[in-house]
Amino acid sequence: MDARARVVNCPTCGQPVAWRPENRWRPFCSERCRLIDLGEWAAERYRLPAEPALGSGPDEHAPAADTAPSRPV
Ligand SMILES: [Zn+2]
Repeated sequence: MDARARVVNCPTCGQPVAWRPENRWRPFCSERCRLIDLGEWAAERYRLPAEPALGSGPDEHAPAADTAPSRPV
């Protein structure tokens, strides 16, 4: 029994994890929990603010009135 072993809680599922060199997934309890945490982190990072591109498109100068194609007579 190693009394010096630290125990941390898995950030993903919260279960106690022994902080040991052989535990390659620390502070997570498993690879699964580690991947889940990384996935959530990535989702947060790549979440872009909803910003519609208005007023900067090429449509402002498009002459749409006279060039309406193939109108049935
Ligand atoms: Zn876990």
